[in-house]
Amino acid sequence: MRNILYAIFFALMTTSCNQKFTAEESATIHAGEREIMYVLSVTESPDSTILRQKSLPISEQMVQSEDFTLLRRRMLATVQDPENEGVGIAAPQVGISRQMVAVQRFDKEGEPFEFFINPEIVERIGEKKAGGEGCLSVPEIRGDVERWQTIRLRYRDEQFVEHEELIEGFTAVIFQHELDHLDGHIYTEKAEKMLTPEELEELMAAQEEDE
Ligand code: ZN
Repeated sequence: MRNILYAIFFALMTTSCNQKFTAEESATIHAGEREIMYVLSVTESPDSTILRQKSLPISEQMVQSEDFTLLRRRMLATVQDPENEGVGIAAPQVGISRQMVAVQRFDKEGEPFEFFINPEIVERIGEKKAGGEGCLSVPEIRGDVERWQTIRLRYRDEQFVEHEELIEGFTAVIFQHELDHLDGHIYTEKAEKMLTPEELEELMAAQEEDE
C-alpha cells in the first residue's frame, strides 16, 4: 500500500513540476502574424467558455521554455496595444488557461508592467472601496466594483522564485481584477452596477477629490 502511495505521489510531483505547455497551448502562443495577440471577448461564445475556466498552474519547466518567453513578450505587446490598451492582462484573455498575469505597477517608479506566476492573494486587509473598472475582454462597458485596498500577494517571479508582497491602492485593485480571471470570473459578476462612460467620469472625479 505504501509503495502505491509513493508511486502516486511521485507521479503527481513529476506531472506538476515538469509539465510543459501543451501542443495546443504552444500553437496559441505562436498563432497569428502580429506580435499583438487575439484578445478573447465575453461577447463571443467560444471565447466566453474559455474565459470562465479555472486556470492551471505554471511549472518551472514552462517558465524556462521559449514558449514562455514568447507568451510573455506577446502579452506585454497586447496589453500595450494603443487600440485596446489596458493596465493588466491575464493569460486566459489570450487563450492560455494558465496562472499568469501582467500588471502595471502604478505603485513603482516608471509604472512598469511586471509578470506574476501562480499568484494568489493570501491576505485581504482593511476595507473595500468602490471604483470604476473596465476589461479588455468586455468591450465598451465599465462597472463600479468594490475591492480591497490592501492585499498580500504570494507569487513566483520569472525565475520561479517565490515571493510575498504587500500591495496597496489602485495596483491592488488591478491584481484582484486579474486574479479573478484566473478563477474564471469576470468583473461584471461583481459590479454593483454598470456605468456609462459619463457616469464613470463623474465617479473618477469624485474619487480624485477624496484623495
Ligand atoms: Zn479583465
